[in-house]
Amino acid sequence: MPLPGATKGLEIRTRQTIPPNRKGEPAKQDDPVKAPFAGSPIRGAFTVDVEEYFQVGAFERVVRRDAWECYPSRLATGLSVVTDLMDEAGVRATFFVLGWVAERHAPLIRRLAESGHEIACHGWDHRRVFRMNAEEFRADLRRARRAIEDATGERVQGYRAPSFSFDRRTPWAHAVLEEEGFAYSSSIFPGRTDHYGMPGAPRWPYRPLADGRLREFPITTLEVFGHRLPWAGGGYFRLAPYRLYRAGYRRLVAARRPFLFYCHPWEFDPDQPGIEGADLKSRLRHRLNLSRMAARVRRLIGDFPWGRMDEWLESCAIRNKGREDDGW
Ligand SMILES: [Zn+2]
Repeated sequence: MPLPGATKGLEIRTRQTIPPNRKGEPAKQDDPVKAPFAGSPIRGAFTVDVEEYFQVGAFERVVRRDAWECYPSRLATGLSVVTDLMDEAGVRATFFVLGWVAERHAPLIRRLAESGHEIACHGWDHRRVFRMNAEEFRADLRRARRAIEDATGERVQGYRAPSFSFDRRTPWAHAVLEEEGFAYSSSIFPGRTDHYGMPGAPRWPYRPLADGRLREFPITTLEVFGHRLPWAGGGYFRLAPYRLYRAGYRRLVAARRPFLFYCHPWEFDPDQPGIEGADLKSRLRHRLNLSRMAARVRRLIGDFPWGRMDEWLESCAIRNKGREDDGW
């Protein structure tokens, strides 16, 4: 069932209010970037995947899960940089937190929630979903969610798969999320990279289950010469010149498309320890331009109106299937 007011495609309900910009003031009508947002709640969803530097997928082969306790935590360092940037701009975001992290850093996660950020779920221990079966996935969700809800005292609504690991091997994944009471997922990269992807999946938020309420907000892509480029953060954001990235987001704004951005606390922590034994490519990719990340993200937050993913989805009506007639 589409939400009330839905007609076709991604329908943005008209609102009387103008969404505030980073200073909490209404967006100016004549601002070339923010003008398309005037009168509509459309904005980017700013998201942070809360995991330690030693838990990233690229180091999985050299850092065993049962050795995680041996590594010094750097979570608070990176997290404080990104939350300061948000406070400075008056932005509230969605934090997808690992259950493992929530169990060990409950006060930190609770403070995030108390500051007005949304706390969502990133799985228990960053195991990729395509390496589990449906029942293992369900157990992982329950364990993670319990730890996160114990930390915040609030119901978790959203989920992001570690390393965007929903793909053709996990046709049951959205149904399990729905059965477990999640309201949305942001777990699919609708293209192909060397690590993940589901080519041909819808690019814009949609309802993946014919008769379900669950919504999927795919990782934002730009279509260039028939290729879907990841345009949502990660190493690509740190590698590309900032102005190029901004131009891509501006294209999406001009077309009134939704977009998201994701980052990790460790990306704001250039002094984190190195991971011994990891291959050179993974280490270089992990550390690329970390020292510039805070300045870049400050600009990004200032250039576009951002908000929490749950608030963004609530303000939109989404039909059952994504549309591919967007011309990008
Ligand atoms: Zn992650």
